[in-house]
Order: sequence, then structure tokens, then C-alpha cells
Amino acid sequence: MIQDNFNRVHDYLRISLTDNCDLRCFYCMPEEEYSFTPTQQLMQAEEIESIARLFVQEGVKKIRLTGGEPLVRKDFPQILERLSRLPVQLTLTTNGTRIHEMLPSIKAAGIKSVNISLDTLQKDRFVLMTKRDRFNQVMSNIQLMLDNQIEAKVNMVVIKGVNDTEIIDFIHWTINTPVHVRFIEFMPFDRNQWNSDKVITLHQILETISSVYPIQPINRQPHETAKNYRVPGNQGTFAVISTMSAPFCSDCNRMRLTADGKMKNCLFSNGETDLLSAYRRGENIIPLIHQNIYDKKEALGGQLSTNMHTIETNQLTNRTMISIGG
Ligand code: SAM
Ligand code: SF4
Repeated sequence: MIQDNFNRVHDYLRISLTDNCDLRCFYCMPEEEYSFTPTQQLMQAEEIESIARLFVQEGVKKIRLTGGEPLVRKDFPQILERLSRLPVQLTLTTNGTRIHEMLPSIKAAGIKSVNISLDTLQKDRFVLMTKRDRFNQVMSNIQLMLDNQIEAKVNMVVIKGVNDTEIIDFIHWTINTPVHVRFIEFMPFDRNQWNSDKVITLHQILETISSVYPIQPINRQPHETAKNYRVPGNQGTFAVISTMSAPFCSDCNRMRLTADGKMKNCLFSNGETDLLSAYRRGENIIPLIHQNIYDKKEALGGQLSTNMHTIETNQLTNRTMISIGG
């Protein structure tokens, strides 16, 4: 069992497969010069499997693959196949551009639910936000998931002045489409143009929706970051991930492994443990895993204030979101 100093048991591992991506979302990837990690510094498929196995041995029950964009890795099918041998719930966060190419592997790995990022229902705005013209492909891949009975959770990062006028459009989409829309509060990372004025909070999102539709809360599962709701009669549901205005650190069970094999105990932690180098030297990495979690701070990586208006982004030490793995 992997437990921290606050008695939180950690049994959920998010593995980033790459810091590369085929989109360029401005809130995730810096606009300035950005170099992707060279392949030999990334965890290789067999290393991912072996390291994941050690986490499972220590009590991990769920693994999510993320990135960067996990599906841009050429060996993604092999990685999935290897991890599907482990006794865990395996799942995936993707931008959705390549699902049609990977569907057989996704199904063969027994994945039942996929998180897909989509910040706008407008093609032009999609190009503005991602700098790539892939809107139609992502929309058709969301439908492909649904046609194949794979649950589609749609991640929408709400940013004031960018896409916040679309909250109701997303709810409207759920009337006849059984997607689960997750509105995510905009979070600060290295060079991502964040400031607190751009955050649309849980409270504001619920106020906007309830001014148009009646809403009902749905029970929150333990450890869940999302607060879930439904509009009665709609086929789809929605949720809000309120990291900034109402964080959910008290029962956090998440651990992260970056694509270059560094372990992070929080999205906002400034420390990391180099598991891959130790693994490559033939060392036993299990004590490193336990120590990393034991050192976990009580809330928000010990870096962010719970009053987001006092956050000074230039005081934060962290990676870019794309190189952490969301
Ligand atoms: N490429 C995949 C994708 O886009 O879903 C997986 C990686 S991405 C970093 C994971 C999630 O983090 C996405 O849903 C993305 O929208 C979210 N994300 C990235 N930067 C964010 C930020 N600054 N604030 C809130 N969510 C963010
Ligand atoms: Fe790529 Fe996902 Fe980041 Fe967008 S959010 S740049 S799709 S990793």
C-alpha cells in the first residue's frame, strides 16, 4: 500500500507516454520555443510495463495513459497490449484526433471509458485554440466511441474570453448525445498565459447552467475530482473539475509518472523522483516510490494558494502541463 503522511492511500497512477502532441493548445503547450524529449530519454514500452507492474504490486488499481498526446506514440498499441495484462482498470486521456486509427487496440485492451479533450463546438475556435484543423476528426471520433459502446467523457477547459460563452452549447449537446461533459477550471502551469481573471469557477459554471436548465447533483464517487450533475431528461450528463476554486486534495489518490520516468506526487508539486534512471541502473525503485508519496504536501503541491487571486505565476516552479501529463 502506498500511503502518504496524511493517511491518503494512493492507488491510481497516471502515466504520460510522451510530451509530444499533434495539437498546440495554448493553455497546455508554451508558444515559445519548445523541444520534445528525445525518444531514448522516454520510458520504453517494456520499461513502462515493468515500472507499472511494481506500482501494481504496491497496490495500484487504476492506470490512466496520458501525455502530451499518448496516441502519437508509434508503439502505443504495444504499450496498451502490455498494460492490459496487468490486473488494473486501464483508461486513457486523448485529444481524440487518432482514435479511429487506434480503435482496435483500445477495444482489445478492454478500455471502457475514454476522456477526450474538446474545448469548443465551433470549428473556427478549435483552430484558434489548438492551431490545428482537426475539429471534424475529433467530433467524428467521439461518435465512433459512442457507436462502439465506449463511454466518452469530454474535457472542456473553460477560459474567460475564449470559450466561456459555450457552456450552454455543451449542455445543449448533451440533450441527445450521451456524452459526459467535464468543465475544467483553467489551471496555472509554466508559460501557459494563466491569470486568475481568466478562471471561470465552479460557482459561475453552475450559475450559468442553472439560469437556463434545472440541474441535479449526482453522487460523487470516492477520490473523484469531478462534481457530477445532470439536467433531467438529457441523455448526457456534466461535471465540473474545480481544482482552483474548490480543490479535492483531502482524498487524493493520484500519482504521476512523466514520459521521461519522473514521479510526481501532485500536478502542482515542484519536486520529482527520477525512477527511470534508478530503474536503468538496476536499483530497487520501490522505496523511492514510497518516499515520493510520503513527502506529498497536504494540498495543491504545497505551491498554490487556495485563494487563487493571490497566486503569482512567476513564483511557481513546475513543468509545462504538456510535459507533466494531465
Ligand atoms: N493530449 C491529451 C488531451 O488533450 O486530452 C492528454 C493530455 S492533456 C495535458 C490532459 C488534459 O489536461 C486535457 O483535458 C487538457 O484539456 C487538460 N489541460 C491542459 N492544460 C490545462 C490547464 N492549464 N488547465 C486545465 N486543464 C488543462
Ligand atoms: Fe496536446 Fe492535450 Fe496539451 Fe492540447 S491539451 S496541447 S491536445 S497535450
